[in-house]
Amino acid sequence: MPNHVHTSPQASLRLTVTETELACLAGTVAGLLAPGDCIALSGDLGAGKTTFARALVRALMQDPGHEVPSPTFALRQDYHSARGPIAQFDFYRINDPHELDELGFDEALLRAITLVEWPERAKAALPLDCIELQLAEAADAQSRTVVLTGRGASVAKIDQLRQLLADTG
Ligand code: ADP
Ligand code: MG
Repeated sequence: MPNHVHTSPQASLRLTVTETELACLAGTVAGLLAPGDCIALSGDLGAGKTTFARALVRALMQDPGHEVPSPTFALRQDYHSARGPIAQFDFYRINDPHELDELGFDEALLRAITLVEWPERAKAALPLDCIELQLAEAADAQSRTVVLTGRGASVAKIDQLRQLLADTG
């Protein structure tokens, strides 16, 4: 196991949200992101990854009606926001991490706000400080549990988010 697993700082935040609240959370997270940041969305089919990603892109685009197709087939969708480029990936169909070279993943990590669905398909390709957002079904069908985890440089973002949520309720 690489050493950083044991030594890097980590911060987590756990919430239970309705779909409306998840979109609201995406709007708050959007305010903390800049080009060079990465956010990985995991959870079972139907957990809400695309719902979150769509709300996040719309918030960054400052356009609540912006069309945001799921990148299931294209594997990558790009947006040009006033906050900088956004690159949204879906790794579900990635069988070999080398396929990410063709998609320009490393270049996106440097220049864009990068979103990844199904990050577990190519976990080694993700930077250590990628924010992790895990979604899971909660007790009632209209709710989801969300666990946000930051490591390394993104610990500060989780702390900021905790503060913002405490302020806004
Ligand atoms: P995924 O991309 O993880 O497969 P989607 O975002 O495509 O999942 O689908 C999530 C589905 O669950 C949508 O139909 C959405 O309307 C529904 N849903 C119900 N409650 C919630 C909730 N609290 N958060 C997110 N989605 C929810
Ligand atoms: Mg999806």
